[in-house]
Amino acid sequence: MTEELKEVTIKVVLIGDAGVGKTTLINRYLMDTFDPFEPPTLSGGFRTKDVILEDLHTKVTLQIWDTAGQERFRALVENYYREAQFVLVCYEIISEESFDAARNWIEEVKDKAPEEAQFFICGTKSDLNDQRMIQTIHGMRLAKEYNAQFGETSAKKNNGVNEVFEEIAKKYVETI
Ligand code: GDP
Ligand code: MG
Repeated sequence: MTEELKEVTIKVVLIGDAGVGKTTLINRYLMDTFDPFEPPTLSGGFRTKDVILEDLHTKVTLQIWDTAGQERFRALVENYYREAQFVLVCYEIISEESFDAARNWIEEVKDKAPEEAQFFICGTKSDLNDQRMIQTIHGMRLAKEYNAQFGETSAKKNNGVNEVFEEIAKKYVETI
């Protein structure tokens, strides 16, 4: 007899400077596509994907929220973070500016997201290693500071993308 899976839904919001590849990361995860000309503003809102964690007998529905480009104006409304269980903070490994901004984003979100919200820090565009400005260890240190998980991804080469979302799902289920 197969055991019933427990079902949970978690809200994951993506933040980080415009252009770091948030929308592209989501598209890779949800649809396995890569668009080198990802239009800067899509509709925003959320899309969902289920992750089955066999070992934990749980089906996790990830509700993945993208911005509609408001991050350009640092004007993400509080509603965006409301009831988020996870905040996925992105920077691109080729830009120091985006890395510095990641810290600012975390600080800003800490005031707006629920206190129990967890952070995952993601260094994007790892395929552009020859232009790398941010060493992996620095990303890891930032994550450690905020008790966050960490990963590097390439949506282009499809490296590390599934892992980010699966680790988020797993971490959540392990801590509830
Ligand atoms: P957003 O503003 O954070 O949502 O960023 P976008 O998803 O719109 O991506 C900005 C640009 O970065 C687009 O031209 C993407 O094609 C490009 N991009 C996104 N992810 C990657 C990646 O993993 N590798 C490379 N080389 N380019 C990427
Ligand atoms: Mg976008």
